[in-house]
Amino acid sequence: MIFGLAACSWPDRTIGAQSEIVMDTVCHIDLFESGTAELYRDLFTRLRELEHVLSAYREDSELAKLNRNAGLEAVEISMELYAVLERALYFAEISGGAFDPTVGPLVKLWDINSSHPRVPLDNEIQAILALVNWQDLELTAPRDGYAARAFLKRQGMAVDLGAIAKGFAADQLVKILEEQGVPRAIINLGGDIYVWGERAGGGPWRIAVQDPLAEQGIFAGILYLGGDISVVCSGVYERYFTGADGKSYHHILGLMENGIDSRRGYPVENHLLSVTVIAASAMDADALSTACFVLGYEKGLELAMAFGAEILFIFEDKAIRGSPGALDVFSPSGVY
Ligand code: ADP
Ligand code: MG
Repeated sequence: MIFGLAACSWPDRTIGAQSEIVMDTVCHIDLFESGTAELYRDLFTRLRELEHVLSAYREDSELAKLNRNAGLEAVEISMELYAVLERALYFAEISGGAFDPTVGPLVKLWDINSSHPRVPLDNEIQAILALVNWQDLELTAPRDGYAARAFLKRQGMAVDLGAIAKGFAADQLVKILEEQGVPRAIINLGGDIYVWGERAGGGPWRIAVQDPLAEQGIFAGILYLGGDISVVCSGVYERYFTGADGKSYHHILGLMENGIDSRRGYPVENHLLSVTVIAASAMDADALSTACFVLGYEKGLELAMAFGAEILFIFEDKAIRGSPGALDVFSPSGVY
């Protein structure tokens, strides 16, 4: 109660970093000297608003409405959902379908984001794969006073934005920081990081890259970065479960027609443990980290560099490879 009263008496008092669980993940925001209760509240409110647009798991989200109408009719969508779907389709296209926002039925089959995931039968996977195809997601841009629209062409199809939504949300928070003239901040939405502005006292920001084989908080190394940049990591350690066969199954699903090591419809197995992407937009970094994980080292490196992003791959044998620009700003912790 004493804290509550104090906050009421001095609404502009600076408070420390805040964390809340939104979008099914820990969202951590540090506004440093600009950290008023009011600004933190506005940012977390924005996150919850976006969850109501983009979540595949909330019955009342806009995305759930689109999925319910699969094979039935096109639905009107907000500019926010339109923006994410449009970008998701772009990454689907440039990754040759390695990244596919219509992966929903497959994610549901594995139930990998729930508390009771399971290994499906191969014939179940093959049947569900017929419902995964980004080219059957039809998007209509807003025009002449008409809202944007989206349509999943076949019944049973479903969009899952788990690989891009957090990045979009981070970018949206950055817009608020910019509008409010906040000089510096760190946003960390479950590993989708954005460093905004200049670090107090100058010098580069230091972003730790998790050691995928060690417990949380043990780092493979540190990235030294200037401001206004995003770092997003996709890894096998983020969400996984152990099947009845004793094998470990993670949450990034292989969708390549001719995957060399990975089987289509199964968690990717290509000797990678994590992929970290550095880009100006967190949405782009998020989509690319997943796309490049699915593509594997050679094709993933090529895609990221063609896009103009920096990328770091950590392999099962502990090797770390990446784009020259990423390796330049990366300092291994010595654990490796
Ligand atoms: P994290 O959730 O750890 O940030 P990602 O950004 O890589 O990791 O997103 C993984 C999520 O994206 C999965 O939980 C699933 O919902 C979805 N997904 C899995 N495989 C694919 C894929 N090939 N293309 C697009 N989305 C995927
Ligand atoms: Mg991603």
